Amino acid sequence: MNQHTPSIGIITTKDLRQRGWSNQQRRAAIGSGRLLVLRRGIYAFPTAPQFATSIVRAGGVITCVTALKLYGVWTPETRKWHRRRRECRRDDCRPYGPKPPTRIVDPLPVAVLAAARCLPEEEFVAVLDSVLHRRLMTLDQLSRTLAVAPQRVRRLLARVDRAESGSETLTRLRLRSRNILLEPQVEIEGVGRVDFLIGDRLVIEIDSIEHHTSLENYFKDRRRDRMLIARGYIVLRFTYHDVVHDWDRAVAPIVVGLIRQRRHLRRSPAACHVAA
Ligand SMILES: [Zn+2]
Repeated sequence: MNQHTPSIGIITTKDLRQRGWSNQQRRAAIGSGRLLVLRRGIYAFPTAPQFATSIVRAGGVITCVTALKLYGVWTPETRKWHRRRRECRRDDCRPYGPKPPTRIVDPLPVAVLAAARCLPEEEFVAVLDSVLHRRLMTLDQLSRTLAVAPQRVRRLLARVDRAESGSETLTRLRLRSRNILLEPQVEIEGVGRVDFLIGDRLVIEIDSIEHHTSLENYFKDRRRDRMLIARGYIVLRFTYHDVVHDWDRAVAPIVVGLIRQRRHLRRSPAACHVAA
């Protein structure tokens, strides 16, 4: 497993000792405000994010979607901080499997088991795709982790595939659920890798905000589109917003409409003459 406990500026007495802090240094740091006591034996540096200090101060453990984000996993937008407490309360996240020990941030497998209960299926598959894409766990490790979850959850592992972002996963799952055959991450000669290819020539690109808003990528995307069109492809470019918030209006009718018209298939080239 290629994961490190995320560093969020919250630390235990034991961690401080391991870093060579004496009790005297710790007390001096607390006295001067460089170290904040959150609860017995747990401290925060001033850099610790406020959500994390409030969860830990209230006796909670950072888990589920909030922990996944700290590990660098794609996560859906969420309005709450995901945590669990020793005495489970109504809005706490509950990982499948045996009750894990109390700590500051749950290890990645525990956070995955909490998200398995907390997230809708599509979003959970996007989390699994992201864990694999970022090489944080292998498929085998995920399979062993999910062994304690119900069969309904374990079956979702069969739906993982290559995806570079959550919006790509959602697109793949939704189009496949309509029995549309598509291939993710296809290499096209002279152009590079496209997000999806349907049939012979319908290319779908999903623009995530992080990767497509720089000026460099703005030019690169347009150059790629021109090269694809010159090679006879049809390129549909959707945004994260189209996929997540406007699927039924912005994405589904366009893709389904083109497939119904059989525009995803190559036709024999019509005879044409272009003056050189
Ligand atoms: Zn949760």
